[in-house]
Amino acid sequence: MSAEGVIFEVREFCLHDGPGIRTTVFFKGCPLRCAWCQNPEGLSFEPQLLVNAARCDRCGACLRACPSPDACTACGACVAVCPQGCRRVCGRRVTAEALAAELNAKTAFFQAYGGGITFSGGEPLAQPDFLVELAGRLRPVHLAVETSGYAAPDAYRRAVAEVDLVLQDLKHPDPGQHLRFTGADPQPILENLAWLKASGRPFIARIPLIPGVNDAPETLARFAELLRGPSGLMRVELLPYHLTAGAKYALVGKTYAPPFDERAPLAPDLSVFAARGLSCCVM
Ligand code: SF4
Ligand code: SF4
Repeated sequence: MSAEGVIFEVREFCLHDGPGIRTTVFFKGCPLRCAWCQNPEGLSFEPQLLVNAARCDRCGACLRACPSPDACTACGACVAVCPQGCRRVCGRRVTAEALAAELNAKTAFFQAYGGGITFSGGEPLAQPDFLVELAGRLRPVHLAVETSGYAAPDAYRRAVAEVDLVLQDLKHPDPGQHLRFTGADPQPILENLAWLKASGRPFIARIPLIPGVNDAPETLARFAELLRGPSGLMRVELLPYHLTAGAKYALVGKTYAPPFDERAPLAPDLSVFAARGLSCCVM
């Protein structure tokens, strides 16, 4: 029987998730809680209802249609009756077999444009059986996975073995600060990163650059120390924080309140990477 997973988007024409023009599959659910997360709809492992309350005219049609008003089950009954289009269910359950058939239909496009498929999220490695089966069912095509690396060693290694490129996110080199800003102990990430480096497999290190959190020269130097040495590292990509990060929190009924100054200027010192022989760019 084919493994079942939960995804929340299949986005086409992505240009920053690996080489060429790519289709990115967003897996739903993430064990981390980064304070700057811009995809709050990707945190829960279950399909969920998103509501754009700003467009609601309080007609009450959703309440009348709802079979479970005390505890939303994301059944979607209210979505169909909302005249304002305020509601949508985010996330769908799908088998690896069915999703592979969907993606394999696009193979000719990838072959023509030198792109491929990227698994992102959420955290794709949090659904390892689904990911591994899906990757194995895809026609020959360039595959990439974007991951926090927060996964059991076996899951990490099985997933990495299935793809051509790893986009390895790194959040903070200091264990205490990592725990503070992501809610997670970085030890599993560091162990998986060490294995990835030793494996020689190609990877890109991606660092979300968060003002006042991880952009100081000494912090960037610690990232560079983590990454230095023999490995398949192609380059380091710094991804500057955007003020739009909190745009979707209201849709999931949450308030975005980052514990850092969003507007503080970012001026990363790239020389710490060059000094250790690492190629680095700001995206
Ligand atoms: S998705 Fe279903 S359960 Fe949830 S509010 Fe709408 S109708 Fe009710
Ligand atoms: S059906 Fe749509 S417009 Fe009407 S109350 Fe519900 S969310 Fe608001």
